[in-house]
Amino acid sequence: MTESTDASQPENPIIKISPTATEVETLASAPTEAVTPMPDGPSEYHLSYAITARLDYSRKTVEIEQAITISSLPIDVQTLVLVVEPNRYPDGFTLKSIVVDQAPIEEFTLAGNQLQFELPERSPSEAPLLVRLEYGILLPEIPPPSEMYKPQPYGYTERQLNLVDWYAFVPPLDDQRQWLVHTPPIFGESLVYPVADFTVNLEIAGNDLPLTVAASGSAVRTENRYQFTLQQARTFAISISPDYEVLETEAAGIKIKAYAFPNSRIPNQAVVGYAAQAAALYTELFGPLSYQQVSIVQADFLDGMEFDGLYFVSKGFYDLYDGTVNGYLSLITVHEMAHQWWFGMVGSDQALEPWLDEGLATFAELQYLEAYFPDQVDWWWAYRVNFYQPVGYIDLAIYDYPSYIAYRNATYLRSAQFLFELREQVEVEMYTAIMQRYLQQEQLKISNAETFWAMFADAPGYPFSELRAKYFKQIP
Ligand SMILES: [Zn+2]
Repeated sequence: MTESTDASQPENPIIKISPTATEVETLASAPTEAVTPMPDGPSEYHLSYAITARLDYSRKTVEIEQAITISSLPIDVQTLVLVVEPNRYPDGFTLKSIVVDQAPIEEFTLAGNQLQFELPERSPSEAPLLVRLEYGILLPEIPPPSEMYKPQPYGYTERQLNLVDWYAFVPPLDDQRQWLVHTPPIFGESLVYPVADFTVNLEIAGNDLPLTVAASGSAVRTENRYQFTLQQARTFAISISPDYEVLETEAAGIKIKAYAFPNSRIPNQAVVGYAAQAAALYTELFGPLSYQQVSIVQADFLDGMEFDGLYFVSKGFYDLYDGTVNGYLSLITVHEMAHQWWFGMVGSDQALEPWLDEGLATFAELQYLEAYFPDQVDWWWAYRVNFYQPVGYIDLAIYDYPSYIAYRNATYLRSAQFLFELREQVEVEMYTAIMQRYLQQEQLKISNAETFWAMFADAPGYPFSELRAKYFKQIP
């Protein structure tokens, strides 16, 4: 998910082959988590969120009324866990009430990013479970870049306010029907999201200046009120600024909107061009995208980060744009676009199998260059991958890599090497057909490595023992 830059790094004479990602080598290793079996079937239950949010832009507060409808929740699930990321910040989350069906919930535990409570007794034939929450959130200030912490999209800066993972959400159930929530990581991503339908009503107060609102879905707007809908997505993100300039285009039936700060018009024009090319290519290579709009937001923090229908690209990459495709602005724009397919449409457990979406998104950078800039393919291998001399197994959990660099080198860079070798072995045509089948079969689900491999069962070379031994710690 993340690709950090350090824009404060002075440009040096070998900038073309020098690392621009933040080098964080001194992180202590995080505790290891036991591997939980992943659900590989469709979610057993169906989810929808109806959220009414009143944002006070100057106070950085949001008052939220949220209804969560859960259909077909297995009757033996007697406890509900909601993920509340805002509670990880000081005074970040103030719960006012929980009502399940008609029953007020008085007893609950709220710790870290989890809100947990017992469900009232239900009968098997009962209507969908309706959970109503009232709560307030206080947005944190986005901290300046640091070697100690990973970049933080959630919160506000002087010119940007980002609502990401800002509402209470229902995690997936694992095979044992336990709610799947991982420990927040030092680096990498750990949240796992089942698909849901979203209706978000946003009202903005507390600001005299006109504000521009970027979001995961398109809006019906009445003055300072926005009504968004997004079907069958995992996340709903919003980014607001008084300063955004917006460029718009369309590719493969997908509306692409690019939001950038005023001094970034030229790189933003490049972003919208790269994004349109990537959206057209991925539609052809992977299959059609399930939603019709993707917004790209210039991040006022040094990171790229994907959400459904909206992704951030680090301002550092805009600043380093030199008018050519040879830089991270193009690569991360097309990388995060690829996550609309490999994260958004096909979900995965970002904590336990981070290679699955990161590898496919990084490999998509190469596929993009092969299609549009074939003479830059050698540059990509040298600049993006081989420069770092990546080592390590690709299939570890985020908690098992000793540093951000070890994690990035393995799950992004080695995974791209692996996918390249796999495609060489089965040949491009078959690889493309298999990945299209993978998308069709796994869209809306939370996929896993086992299912990925199973897609190749009829391909020559299966089970690819040598290849697996080279890149994977776990071989069957
Ligand atoms: Zn990524």
